[in-house]
Amino acid sequence: MQRRKFIELGSLGFMAFSFSSFQKKTTAIQPIVLSTWDAGINANKAAWEVLRNGGKSIDAVEKGVMVTELERNCCVGLSAYPDRDGFVTLDASIMDENFNCGAVACLQRIKHPISVARRVMEKTPHVLLVGEGAQQFALSEGFALEEPILSDDATKAYKNWLKKSEYKPIINIEHNQSTILPPQKLENNQWNHDTIGMIALDSHGNLSGSCTTSGMAFKMHGRVGDSPIIGAGLFVDNEVGAATSTGQGEDIIRIAGSHTVVEFMRHGIHPQLACKKVVERAVKAKGIEKAKEIQIGFIAINKKGEYGGYALQKGFNYAVCTADNFNKLINSKYVL
Ligand code: ASP
Repeated sequence: MQRRKFIELGSLGFMAFSFSSFQKKTTAIQPIVLSTWDAGINANKAAWEVLRNGGKSIDAVEKGVMVTELERNCCVGLSAYPDRDGFVTLDASIMDENFNCGAVACLQRIKHPISVARRVMEKTPHVLLVGEGAQQFALSEGFALEEPILSDDATKAYKNWLKKSEYKPIINIEHNQSTILPPQKLENNQWNHDTIGMIALDSHGNLSGSCTTSGMAFKMHGRVGDSPIIGAGLFVDNEVGAATSTGQGEDIIRIAGSHTVVEFMRHGIHPQLACKKVVERAVKAKGIEKAKEIQIGFIAINKKGEYGGYALQKGFNYAVCTADNFNKLINSKYVL
């Protein structure tokens, strides 16, 4: 009797094993890349080249945002708006599937802060290098020191701002817009958002993320936002999911935004709802009246490749790229 049971169980076990190995063979992981704003369309193309060839998500998220760092008409990279003293200072972070992460903040005159962040991750025992130290490290790694020349758009906007020199940061206020003028330019010649966050799942089932920005236009010299702060502007837990953010960094740091999105996903919450809950938490922390003056937005992917985004106000969008859905721009839902 016992023996028969053993044989029966044995054959059931074999069937289960063959079924699960069959399942494994037939359900290949579909790569996906998601990035903030419409600049994400171009960035996703570069990331997709890596992913569709079976490449690693960490390479995809670096290559992807490098495109945006070079785009002239964009508020990421060296052509971005300066701080209130006239310096372009850049922040970036990157994180892989093993909790390895690297970041730079207040970095000047380097074309690709995201690649410096990756070197911090791979070549130092640290997570974050700032200012002069970050620049010295970049130079020691062979990055070139660029001339500190403001782009024409940035010079124009800075001169305009200097007329009043009002320290009143306006960030990502887009709810007056009915459409987003390409590329991200408003009628009054103001660029209004200045970050790209990218998260990706590769065909090996691994998640990674990157985030790069010039931060808030005309910020105080030395101001650092959420983008290079792991847990705020970016977080990846390969067992659960990945999230990144854009918008007023101070309000994202206060609630450890991207980490909190991942924690909601850990409890089985869909990425879109997880983003929404975190935006709501930021509103609660700030108070509804003050929250009306800012914008924040999150995007997230879970381990299954489900994704979503949510913003505080109308106007946030994000680009998604999968094999079936090549580079679609999605207008995010919003809470206000
Ligand atoms: N989050 C960025 C910062 O606060 C700015 C942005 O996303 O537009 O530095």
